[in-house]
Formats: sequence, structure tokens, C-alpha cells
Amino acid sequence: MAEVLASRNPCSGEVVGELRCTPRDAIGDVVARSANAGDRWSAMTLDERAQAITTAAEALGDAAATLGRTSCLETGKPLPVAIGEVKQAAAATAAMATSAAEALRSVSSRQGDLVARTVYDPYGVCAVLAPWNFPVWLAHCMVVPALCAGNTVVLKPSENTPLVGDAYARTLAASLPPGVLTSVVGGPGVGEALVAARVQLVAFTGSRATGKSILRSASERLTRVIMELGGKDVLIVLDDADLAAAADFACRSAFFNSGQVCVSSERMLVDARVEAKFVELLRERAQRLRMGHGLTEGVDLGPLIHQGQFDRVAAHVTDACERGAEVVLGGPRQAEGLFFPPTILRGVTPGMKIFHEETFGPVANIITVHGEDDAVAKANEGDYGLSAVVFGGDRSRAERVARRLDVGMIGINRPVTGARDTPWVGAKQSGYGFHGSPAGHRHFAQVRVLLADAPLA
Ligand code: NAD
Repeated sequence: MAEVLASRNPCSGEVVGELRCTPRDAIGDVVARSANAGDRWSAMTLDERAQAITTAAEALGDAAATLGRTSCLETGKPLPVAIGEVKQAAAATAAMATSAAEALRSVSSRQGDLVARTVYDPYGVCAVLAPWNFPVWLAHCMVVPALCAGNTVVLKPSENTPLVGDAYARTLAASLPPGVLTSVVGGPGVGEALVAARVQLVAFTGSRATGKSILRSASERLTRVIMELGGKDVLIVLDDADLAAAADFACRSAFFNSGQVCVSSERMLVDARVEAKFVELLRERAQRLRMGHGLTEGVDLGPLIHQGQFDRVAAHVTDACERGAEVVLGGPRQAEGLFFPPTILRGVTPGMKIFHEETFGPVANIITVHGEDDAVAKANEGDYGLSAVVFGGDRSRAERVARRLDVGMIGINRPVTGARDTPWVGAKQSGYGFHGSPAGHRHFAQVRVLLADAPLA
């Protein structure tokens, strides 16, 4: 009997639905069937594949309300946010597929009589392992380039969002050739079995700890990996920043999706000269946020995804308070069920867990800095390096500070949202390979070179 995975609503603990887990010993067959489907798929031209994926994604747009509702029930996030995520995936597909097709065209070159052609071929079967915080968008960012490159895909959605993950894969697969996109159901064990099966590429978005475990397993056969990992991102507020704009950004960045966002600002490095004013502006904004059930109209943030996540956030806040941080707003005592209130801590220092470890919760940590050198030094502490945001009135100084930060993506007076044809990339231990942009699309393909002494056909 296959094990059953029950998906629970974090707002209430109620079971949203159940799915049968894919038995670990069946994963090899799933991968073999996916490989067979690759023969026809990889023989199609780049433009044919891009068109097929773009057409398939129209069904995602049509199903946005249904998929969004399932996501809302499984994650607890506000319904409009959940629906918006599905619509975003559908709307972005055409540009992603076209960009991938362009990036993967063969390139010819000549050196005297020697003619060469560099081609981008599919690897074969790509395992896509997705997290729960944006269960559709983050899966889509890996599935689309993998398919465009001519690979087939076996998707394993998170065990916390199996229903929306499975529905996403079925919706897209319904308009693609059979077997090109399939999904498996289960937790880390199923993910492990998939990585260990005969897949040629693993695309993973998730925590650093899981990334390291995948890398160890992939080293057995030197399976290619692309990994987008966790972060401990910073917001730097310089002394000449527009404080109202910085506080608007800080409030959204720390509390959107209850802080369960890879690029949420988990450390706010604020110049001592403007700290008191900034904290007051942030507190004013944060205390207006409404927390509640994702289906309730007008709600800004929902609960944390599960008890383990809640315990981690509470432990980080408690540790910080025991080591001298001041609670400006919220804190664990005001929590109920899995609902953790928007929390602002002041006086956070490098000796606290919350300074270094990813919290993934609705906590804004204010860290006092004295000038830009101090801000840069504190920002660059630690092993994560996903993104950062710098707010400053003197644009060239803000840019100078930004260039000194050891992270992959940096916003200047604006959030890090990604932009068309740019990579979604982490530095240090926040990433290993990346997707997005022509360079990112090429990570999903095996590059080869054909050489001849006469013109190639
Ligand atoms: P996770 O690492 O626990 O799980 C991610 C996926 O990997 C899930 O499908 C899970 O079942 C699977 N998995 C777990 N252990 C595995 C193993 N040993 N082998 C193979 N698969 C395994 O992450 P999560 O809790 O779902 O997501 C939150 C994390 O993801 C945070 O650290 C967050 O920062 C990160 N994240 C990063 C980005 C980014 O773009 N860099 C985006 C979103 C989330």
C-alpha cells in the first residue's frame, strides 16, 4: 500500500486533501518513462518547443482561480496573492520560452579553413525539486527552461504543497506531448530517490542544507545540478536615504508572505543617525498589517507554513531577546496557532542566531551601523549571499556601496524583483548555478562543439 500524504491548512490544521505518495521503488520507472518521452520532444525544433510550452501555459492562466485557491488553502497566504502567482507564471511564459529559444540557438565560428558549430543539446531527464513558499512560480522558473532545452521533466513539489504542485504539473502537461512533464508525490525521501535515479540534471530551489545533501548524492554520477538556495538578505539604510520610501520597502520585504520569501530583508542595517526615525516609520506601517486566514478579504499576511517553521522563528526571536534585543513590535508571546505577528527587533548584534541563520519568518531585525564601511562589513558577514537592497539619497554613493556587497542581486532604492533576461542568482552559499537570462538558460543544456575542415551542413 502506498503511503498517503495529507496536506493541511496551516490556518486551521484541517486536511485540505490527500495524495498517494509515489513509492520510492517506483521512481526508476517514472524516470525511464520520462526518458522515453524525450525522443520525440528533443527532436522538435527550439521554436516548436517554445510554442508548445507557451500554448500549454495558457491553460495555467485559465486555471488561476482554482490553482490559486488550492495554494491559498495549503500555504495560508492571502487568496489574491496566491492567484496572482499563478497568473504571473502564465503571463511570463512566452517571454521565458522565447528568450530560452534565442539563447540555445547554435553558434557558428570560423578559423581559417576550420569551421565550428557550438550547439546546446538536452541533457535528458531533469528532476525539478521545488519549495512551498511560491509553489507554482518557483517550479515554473525551472520547468520552463528545462523543457525549452529539450529535456523532459519529473517534478517533485514540496510535501507542504503537494496538491497545488500536482495540479500545476497536470494542467501544464495536459497540452504537452505525453510524458514530457510528469510529477511525483512525497517528501524528502522521494526527492532523494529521484536525485539518485538516472536523471541527468537536477534543478533545485530550497534550503542550503538540502542543497548540500543533493550535491553529495549527485556527486556519485556527477549529475549536473542547478541550485537556488536560502539567504540572510540585508537592507542598508544610509544616512541620506528617503526614510519613508525605505520604511515602505522594509515593511513589505520583511512581512510579505509572512517573511517566507528567499529575498526578504532579514537584516536591516540602519545608520545610527537615522535609526530612531526609520524604526518609528516601520513600526507605524507594520502595526497596520492585518493577519488572518488567507480566504478572508483584506488580509495582508497568513500563518507560518508548519510547526517546525514556527518553532524556528520563535527560537530565533527568543534567543535575540535573551541576548539583549528589544522588542519594538510583536514577539512570540502574541502568537496563536501558527500565526506569528509582524515583529520588529532593535539592537540585533552579530552574537545572535537571528543575525546569521535564515529565519524565514515575519521579523524585521534592526542592526545599528556607523557609516557605510561598517554597513558593508556587517552585510558581508556570513556564508549566505542571495540579495541586498540599498537605500540612499546620493545615487552614486548608494551604487558604490551596492558594488561592495558580496551577493548575487542588489536593488538600489527598489526591491529585488528579477527583470526580463537577467539571472536569478545567489553568491556564496545562496546558489550553485542559476536560472534566468541567456546564461541561465544554457545551464539546462549540454554544450557540444562540431568541428570540420569544410563548411558544415
Ligand atoms: P527544502 O530544502 O526543505 O525543500 C525543497 C524541496 O526539496 C522539497 O520538495 C523537498 O521535499 C525536497 N527535499 C528535501 N530534502 C531532500 C533531499 N535530501 N533530497 C532531495 N530532495 C529533498 O526547502 P523548503 O523548506 O521547501 O523551502 C524553503 C527554503 O527554500 C528556504 O531556505 C528559502 O530561502 C529557499 N528558497 C530559495 C529560493 C531562491 O530562489 N534562492 C526561492 C525560494 C525558496
